[in-house]
Amino acid sequence: MDRSSNFDKIIVIWKLTVIETGVDKLQVLKEALDLHKEKLQLSRQQLLLLEHLESNKDNRKLPIIYAVTPTYWRYVQKAELTRISQTLQLVPNVHWIVIEDSEEKTDLVRNLILESKLIATHLNAKTPPFEQIKDKDPRWKRHRGVEQRNMALAWLRENLQLNKDKGVVYFMDDDNTYNIKLFTEIGKVKKVGVWPVGLVGGLNAETPILDSTTDMAGFAINLDLILAKHEAVFSYAMEKGLQESEFLSYFTTKEELEPLADNCTKVYVWHTRTEKPVVNGIVQGLEV
Ligand code: UDP
Ligand code: MN
Repeated sequence: MDRSSNFDKIIVIWKLTVIETGVDKLQVLKEALDLHKEKLQLSRQQLLLLEHLESNKDNRKLPIIYAVTPTYWRYVQKAELTRISQTLQLVPNVHWIVIEDSEEKTDLVRNLILESKLIATHLNAKTPPFEQIKDKDPRWKRHRGVEQRNMALAWLRENLQLNKDKGVVYFMDDDNTYNIKLFTEIGKVKKVGVWPVGLVGGLNAETPILDSTTDMAGFAINLDLILAKHEAVFSYAMEKGLQESEFLSYFTTKEELEPLADNCTKVYVWHTRTEKPVVNGIVQGLEV
């Protein structure tokens, strides 16, 4: 048995001792590992990794953030997903739910999720052809991501249990720009939290306190509410631009919204949009 595969096993056990949330069931194991640290002859890098695990153990007290990301194929997809997955790697206790707008799950997304090492669920839900975005046709804009977000809601409701699983749900589009401070704010959500979103609706920022509309990136909902209100879904019938507010009205009133990000004075997320690149040629034999 070589040293590196032994080390993999140690890491698994060590991780268990760190993330196990029950009464410290694995305390004996943990003490044994600590005691024999020397004999295990770990490299400096391996010791650093263990330290990292140890210092993160308080994270288990944080609520899980379910980050819901619809995504579809275009030339910039891998770039967008690389950016967002590496943002999420800086966030403790996140569960990434990626829903591909496709007939089948693709290797591109599958491999990217694997490589990210994030706790993730990979789903797919294709937007029906009549709802698909027609290039340059603004009338179809409002239908983006509906099917995929509903698929994530269904997954949460099927796989998690009310009063048992705890967390917060955030709709995290693949093309926005996120400050990791946002995730600390999301962790504070009791029912529905709101905050400003930069670069949206023709403004430098939109704040839920002053404006009647809320961007998809500007709120998060406690998992309890998502699990309790089964009827709450996104629909094509919702008014253009009012999809978010209509969805929120299933859970709360405007007065009850919890203003976060320093009472809605800070911008921690931007509704950025990536320019469509002009691609005239394909480089063969290159993984892009
Ligand atoms: N999206 C999708 N299928 C589409 C178009 C968009 O799954 O046909 C996803 C996209 O990847 C993003 C979200 O839906 O995560 C919102 O889309 P987009 O960013 O294009 O919308 P906008 O920024 O204009 O609101
Ligand atoms: Mn977008």
